[in-house]
Amino acid sequence: MKNVFNNKILKRVGVYPGSFDPITYGHQDIIKRASYIVDHLVVAVAKNADKSQLFTLEDRVNMVRRDIEIIDIDSNAKVEVNSFDTLLMHYVEICDASVIIRGLRAVSDFEYEFQMAGMNVKMNPKVETLFLMASEQCQFISSRFVKEICNLGGDVSSFVSKFVQNELNKAFMKKTL
Ligand code: ADP
Repeated sequence: MKNVFNNKILKRVGVYPGSFDPITYGHQDIIKRASYIVDHLVVAVAKNADKSQLFTLEDRVNMVRRDIEIIDIDSNAKVEVNSFDTLLMHYVEICDASVIIRGLRAVSDFEYEFQMAGMNVKMNPKVETLFLMASEQCQFISSRFVKEICNLGGDVSSFVSKFVQNELNKAFMKKTL
């Protein structure tokens, strides 16, 4: 299957999977940088039934789509946002992708990412996992802490977009009603 965008044949498709519960400036930074590496980036929001999420799948996809509009992505790249509810490697094959993009923060991310990349390459050796080191200003940003801070009334404007801040406030208001 050939990937065509604006009548141009796209060569390299990358999938950036994650929970994005919610998308942060750290995720935004990875999306922006990945857009300069691949021709077509699929930001793939995982349903992750086993993880308890604050936001529904639909809301998480919507927040990523809204944030994409304010990211300075490579104008030559196509970036799309989808959701998936299957094994990641199956989804990667459906997308005809050759690269999985992941972000790496401190040492704590390493063990999990190392194992996941190892299992995935066993399932399909043609697909590489590419790790982008978190930018200095994003090293400490995590969706989990953003939720905790917001829930306790803290200011999360340095970590997430205005749109996501509003969604967080609404979600926590709903929870306390
Ligand atoms: P998952 O549940 O798959 O870990 P996340 O949404 O938490 O989903 O993260 C998706 C990817 O983005 C992971 O590779 C994670 O390490 C990376 N990531 C999350 N936050 C940051 C950040 N602040 N800087 C760089 N990468 C990040």
